[in-house]
Amino acid sequence: MKGCGPVAFRRNFVSPGAPVVHPLYMAFSLIRACPACQSKNRVGAAHLTSSARCGKCKAPIGPVREPIDVDTPAFDDIVGAAKVPILVDFWAAWCGPCRAAAPQVHALAEEMAGRAIVLKVDTEAHPDLANRFNVQAIPNFVVLKGGRIASQHPGLAPRDQMRRWLEPTSAPH
Ligand SMILES: [Zn+2]
Repeated sequence: MKGCGPVAFRRNFVSPGAPVVHPLYMAFSLIRACPACQSKNRVGAAHLTSSARCGKCKAPIGPVREPIDVDTPAFDDIVGAAKVPILVDFWAAWCGPCRAAAPQVHALAEEMAGRAIVLKVDTEAHPDLANRFNVQAIPNFVVLKGGRIASQHPGLAPRDQMRRWLEPTSAPH
């Protein structure tokens, strides 16, 4: 894990020999450990901010508290299912200001757990997503509300400002 250590995501891959033209795509899910019994639970896109319960002991797992590294299918799944604002951090490993922003982005995800989702898009690995949002310089932050772009903010920003972007009463600046 690089930078601030965003959560790894996992999906099911097609088995060898399966057709590659139409790969079987399983919906995005995060593997999260139960805080009570440590058993691993698969949490789908619709339950990242709600209190999912452990399949084994039924203890609440709690909302995701870290940024989530996404590829394009995961991005689409999460954005499609989200009932809270989403902050998308477009970054790259070679970008100094992105690395400077990373701890703030991580802290924001922790602070806003349950009230917002923070996604990280590596623009080197997923240029299609960067193109979709016309990202020409990084860091670049996109705020999505109800599946639409609420605002977009190129450049490094302090955490207080990022939080204001996500707040429902805030002006989109
Ligand atoms: Zn449990």
